[in-house]
Amino acid sequence: MTGPHRAGAGTAPAPVTVLAGPTAVGKGTVSAKIREQYPQIWLSVSATTRPPRPGEVDGVHYRFVSEDEFTRLVQSDQMLEWAIVHGRHRYGTPRGPVDEAVAAGHPVLLEIDLAGARQIRRTVPEARFVFLAPPSWESLVERLVGRGTETAEQQERRLQTARRELAAESEFDVTIVNDEVPRATAELAGLLGVRDLT
Ligand code: 5GP
Repeated sequence: MTGPHRAGAGTAPAPVTVLAGPTAVGKGTVSAKIREQYPQIWLSVSATTRPPRPGEVDGVHYRFVSEDEFTRLVQSDQMLEWAIVHGRHRYGTPRGPVDEAVAAGHPVLLEIDLAGARQIRRTVPEARFVFLAPPSWESLVERLVGRGTETAEQQERRLQTARRELAAESEFDVTIVNDEVPRATAELAGLLGVRDLT
């Protein structure tokens, strides 16, 4: 699905950019860096049913909602996409704020999982899809199982998921290798037409 016929595949920044990639590749770290260092980029605040972690602020890192509220948002068509991530909690992109940010002319970034990215492919076909890849398979394995807190069976399941997720790279317009977070973040910001101001 790549090629010059797709609006998101050219060199001009697309109004909406989707960042996805395998579990543990460091999407969260890259998007945190975007939030901190590139205020010109409008980063979507997802709604989620997962409870906040220490330090997470409602409305900044996520909009923390109840199961009922999430269901209401989905049923009233207020989600651009949503998915159950890691088989546990629901996460979704509220539609209204994205529409407003696009209308205001901001470069918009969504950091979501692969299932969500595939939905955006249908709902926002002109979006640009960026795959964040690990520098090597070994580095991803290291990050996935390195903590050593899981059983061999759990580790094998995570590795199978990672293999499947890596195979999705060909669905994306651009790949950014997360070799160094500042470099990968700058490359992403450049794709959105934004340079570091600091
Ligand atoms: P965490 O709970 O660690 O913050 O995020 C877990 C996963 O949820 C990450 O892989 C992230 O990409 C994904 N995620 C966060 N927000 C959204 C969203 O709005 N939609 C979808 N589909 N996935 C999301």
